[in-house]
Amino acid sequence: MPGVPAPHDGRYAPSPTGPLHLGNLRTALLAWLFARRAGGRFVLRIDDLDQGRSRREHEAGQLADLAALGLDWDGPVPRQSARADRYAEGLAALEAQGLVYPCWCTRAELREAASAPHGALPEGAYPGTCLRLTAAQRAEREARGRPPALRVRADAAVVTVEDRLLGPSTQVVDDLVVRRADGTHAYNLAVVLDDHDQGVGEVVRGADLAETTGRQVWLARRLGLAVPAHAHVPLVLGPEGRRLAKRDGAVTLADRRALGERPEQVRGLLAASVGLCAPGATPAMDELVAAFDPARLPREPTVLRP
Ligand code: GLU
Repeated sequence: MPGVPAPHDGRYAPSPTGPLHLGNLRTALLAWLFARRAGGRFVLRIDDLDQGRSRREHEAGQLADLAALGLDWDGPVPRQSARADRYAEGLAALEAQGLVYPCWCTRAELREAASAPHGALPEGAYPGTCLRLTAAQRAEREARGRPPALRVRADAAVVTVEDRLLGPSTQVVDDLVVRRADGTHAYNLAVVLDDHDQGVGEVVRGADLAETTGRQVWLARRLGLAVPAHAHVPLVLGPEGRRLAKRDGAVTLADRRALGERPEQVRGLLAASVGLCAPGATPAMDELVAAFDPARLPREPTVLRP
């Protein structure tokens, strides 16, 4: 366990479901720069809650790619899959506050519920169907024997999120899943406990996760944990304006190497895409640290034609 987190102790938390692509690598590089520029620690974590899609070989490949790019990190690299006891402890703390309830809704029911208007909650939010079951309805679902997911009751709490890049935003928290029907703890619960336990003071990650922040801030508060700062960095998009993916061409470090590019050239490409160096330059890591200024990062996604 680290000591007291400094505000700029940062992290990168890849899901080992495939090789990292240029978008992931750029997010990792930026997260590293945020932390190192401020003299903070930088830790990694393996987000392998989804055991069906996570592979050890991807995990090893991702760490090797980060190292090849020039990133270094502090301390061990925990796997979420080894932390179920800690997540159960967090869940128990929410249960002790009377906040947790079972949810038997099927995917189809969730889709249907999400498409109906429901007051203050955002589109796609869970409207609390299973919270309002009568005792008889609940008994009937229990008798069917299908295990429920567990949700936490948030009462449409309104959370103001401060983001270093995106500015302040107000998010309404729905009754989020904290444990899935298959017994796996949910991402939002895990990430809050992980970031706390790893001493993360600032969460830097891709802008696609900005909308999860309200839920995570709310959960951290319910669990009595210090809330980290947040900075959501712009995504890298492919030529069609969608999130960069395999179909877009040479998107992984291995693909780029196969084209004859060296890792420092890939790093230069990523750095140039956020204005940290001139196109074609190959700055060293310490030069990037010196050039890095979060306030001057672009806020808009970058389109790459790899
Ligand atoms: N594991 C997540 C991903 O690869 C990131 C989670 C996070 O940064 O909070 O998209």
